[in-house]
Amino acid sequence: MKRVIAKIAQELGVKRDEAELIAATLLERPRFEFYLNHKLCPENELRLWLKLILLKNGVPIEYVTKRIQFREYNLVIYPGVFIPRLETEYFIELINQRVELKPQRILEIGTGCGAIAIALARIYKHAEIVATDISNRALDNARINIERFGLKTRVELIHSDLFENIDTRFDLIVSNPPYVPSNRLFSLPKSVRDFEPLRAINGGKDGTVFIQSLVEQGMSYLNSNGTIALEIDELSVNPLKTFFRKRKQTVSFVQDQFGRYRYLFTKKG
Ligand code: SAM
Ligand code: GLN
Repeated sequence: MKRVIAKIAQELGVKRDEAELIAATLLERPRFEFYLNHKLCPENELRLWLKLILLKNGVPIEYVTKRIQFREYNLVIYPGVFIPRLETEYFIELINQRVELKPQRILEIGTGCGAIAIALARIYKHAEIVATDISNRALDNARINIERFGLKTRVELIHSDLFENIDTRFDLIVSNPPYVPSNRLFSLPKSVRDFEPLRAINGGKDGTVFIQSLVEQGMSYLNSNGTIALEIDELSVNPLKTFFRKRKQTVSFVQDQFGRYRYLFTKKG
């Protein structure tokens, strides 16, 4: 094992203890075993090297381990499904703080691997949740996570383009929609551009195309006093202010943990 660790350190240009961490993660074995002079069987060594080649080629580690940590939840992630981000962990925090009445019915649009739906199901223990996505791969991924967390009876998954297959009303509609302005897609990190689904992040002009449709259509899927909560790009704040002003609709833009305006909350009066 010593030889393998040294080779990983050399190949990836990392320190020995980082190489140990990577090996422990990829092999799903405790690090101390590496000091007991265990030998890896050839099959496992091959598997390890195949994963390391993926990492070396820039594949996000989440797609290699097929696991992500979202808040307190360890979730399965399929390659090709959007990897939940740090800002979305905080989005859940803000929803919990800002949505006054406990929502009974929640709709999540574009659930990806199901992270938001699962976190909200844990916070609102009596709520019924509908989670949608346009991607069948995302829905298959979300189904696995929802079943692992025993939430099959409380979170319903629906294949839908925006509200196409939705025919009921909700107290809360949430989404981390595609919101990267099209002209900034090229400036995303290579690992995002090359490996994450474009449909999950392309927000069109100003990053607001999806958001505007969601707000325009979403109002008729809200119960009175219902809330729409969205994660947004900070560069979309100005165009969105204009959009809400034209609609004569009140909106609050809220900062993330770094002081950037990254979320909006709007209510049906
Ligand atoms: N909710 C997950 C999260 O926060 O990690 C995934 C968010 S990802 C930024 C956006 C998701 O919206 C993707 O899973 C994508 O497939 C989905 N999506 C894109 N266009 C959609 C549409 N027209 N209707 C429903 N979902 C859509
Ligand atoms: N924050 C993501 C990124 O920069 C984009 C997320 C989104 O479009 N919803 O990769």
